[in-house]
Amino acid sequence: MKMQDESYEYLNIQLKTIESDIKRICEKIGKPYEDVTLIGVTKTYEADVINASIEYGISHIGENRVQEIMRKYADISSDVKWHLIGHLQTNKVKYIVDKVDLIHSVDSLKLAEEINRHAIKNNKIQEILIQVNVADETQKFGISPESLPELLDEISKLSHVRVCGLMNIAPFVTDANVLRQDFKTMNKLYRALETYGYQNVCARYLSMGMSSDYEVALEEGANMLRIGTKIYGKRLK
Ligand SMILES: *Cc1c(COP(=O)(O)O)cnc(C)c1O
Repeated sequence: MKMQDESYEYLNIQLKTIESDIKRICEKIGKPYEDVTLIGVTKTYEADVINASIEYGISHIGENRVQEIMRKYADISSDVKWHLIGHLQTNKVKYIVDKVDLIHSVDSLKLAEEINRHAIKNNKIQEILIQVNVADETQKFGISPESLPELLDEISKLSHVRVCGLMNIAPFVTDANVLRQDFKTMNKLYRALETYGYQNVCARYLSMGMSSDYEVALEEGANMLRIGTKIYGKRLK
């Protein structure tokens, strides 16, 4: 590795710190470390910082806004997989299907259909996660656990979309038990995915766990973590 600028050394230190913490948790709970995908959440950071983190070993990056993906895409090293982790409006799907590997935030049939349409155009199978909102009524996005079976049934008819798991954004709660309970519910829904028997629905990724709650998330079955501030520091805006 050849870094031109020593000033990114802090990224290396923070990344190594979180990786060893994930290893520690994996050992504690008996989960293979290789089974965990770490996504560096790069929203608000510029391409130079993101590229430095890629040189230090980040191989997945997550952005929550389509505009930000579009703005940075050409400047980011091609050695990385892109994740859209934030809310996606139907009219913006056309800009990203050719760029992202996994869309975490699908929460309606209308959105899945639009993704399918553009996946057909791009001659790809677009992998997606369904965003589930377990309990928190203050969150605008994500479907309820009760609506999941019907949405899966509809999506199972789409030819160019593959559901690879579920995503959850934890509510801002101070009660660790509430948080854990939500994660447990997510895990149950996740493990049930393959019992439906749909060809394009599988349980590969359970995307939950951010900087403040990844330990509980891992303990409750997460295998895809979305970590921003613990790697990159305080967000810029
Ligand atoms: C910003 C963001 C994260 C990362 O949050 P941190 O607390 O900085 O780790 C994870 N998931 C989503 C959907 C986000 O928007």
